[in-house]
Amino acid sequence: MALIVQKYGGTSVKDAERVMNVARRITDVYKAGNNVVVAVSAQGDTTDDLIAKAKEINPDASKREMDMLLSTGEQISISLLAMAIEKLGCPVVSLTGWQAGVKTDSKYGSARIKTIDTERLMMELDNRRIVIVAGFQGINKYDNITTLGRGGSDTSAVALAAALGADLCEIYTDVDGVYTTDPRICKGAFKLDEISYDEMLELASLGANVLHNRSVEMAKKYNVKMSVRSSLNNNEGTYVKEESQVEKMLVRGVTRDNDCARIALCGVEDAPGKAFQVFEMIAKAGISVDLILQSIGDGKTKDISFTVAEGDLDATLELLEKNKSIIKAREIKSTSDVSKVSIVGAGMVNNSGVAAKMFEALSDAHINIKMIATSEIKISVLVAQKDAEHAVNAIHDKFLSK
Ligand code: ASP
Ligand code: MG
Repeated sequence: MALIVQKYGGTSVKDAERVMNVARRITDVYKAGNNVVVAVSAQGDTTDDLIAKAKEINPDASKREMDMLLSTGEQISISLLAMAIEKLGCPVVSLTGWQAGVKTDSKYGSARIKTIDTERLMMELDNRRIVIVAGFQGINKYDNITTLGRGGSDTSAVALAAALGADLCEIYTDVDGVYTTDPRICKGAFKLDEISYDEMLELASLGANVLHNRSVEMAKKYNVKMSVRSSLNNNEGTYVKEESQVEKMLVRGVTRDNDCARIALCGVEDAPGKAFQVFEMIAKAGISVDLILQSIGDGKTKDISFTVAEGDLDATLELLEKNKSIIKAREIKSTSDVSKVSIVGAGMVNNSGVAAKMFEALSDAHINIKMIATSEIKISVLVAQKDAEHAVNAIHDKFLSK
């Protein structure tokens, strides 16, 4: 008997028909003799609708109350799904995060799971019940409800799989798996049969909207074998697992992230400690900096530019403006008209010339590169937002055309 953890996203349970469809899939696996634990998201746009409702009443509501509200979305779907399974004649129980023993830290709105106390879960499984758990939520040491951040149900599922030592964690969504790039913007995009944890982690962090990046982090840490597949058909999905030596692809995926803004500090004093001053100030304000570029100084001045998430632009500018006298930049410029385009692939580690090939693709497409950053398995460039789709296509053609 295997233990399978499944996760169904909001589109997979958006209405009664889809809930019944999911119930049938679950009971099929159960009837084949497996134990099944399921994490579910809120139906369709429920979480967005709840956020809108809160804004109507108090745009500055406390994060604790926001979590209290948002956690209700998942509570609706677990009970409905359990009712659907009852109708199909199988034993089932739905559990909220706290009933399932999901303990988190206290960071409301983006809590991290610390432990899962599996006693209740094990008891239900011992009684051969299908267990439906509310994704995205847990409880902190003050017995308050917390949520794990948007898209967090993936992480709930992987955490349950890790805690229970499940044989497989299947993430069901409305696409067939992980694609080489967004098929909506690139016709040549194709589904990958497998991908390594590290590659998936980069793709998830770089704006490929398939998996919550913390779920991949956790799957890697606890060696949880996971797959991403569609709840609407029976196609094989994409397996996310430890890397196989033979299957190292040079480039596995291309991503685009429009959610970035660039700030340039021009004419900063060319002296030791300047970058430290600037970035420490920004880090202390809880703002994450992504790409960084510093020009060669001439002994008098230099330029430092960097990117932040678009939502952090105003706060960062305000902070820099307030500390103008310390930073002593001649001018501070900013734009949010930029996108980050990246390639990811474990095969890059042992191959030279990958960056050159990427830049050649951009050059042939007459796209100007504003910033560059590289790591062992990824290369990112910053381009004008209007060029981003074109850039993705040009790069995908270069590395991944079939
Ligand atoms: N319902 C939550 C959201 O919309 C969590 C999830 O779907 O994973 O972000
Ligand atoms: Mg999701």
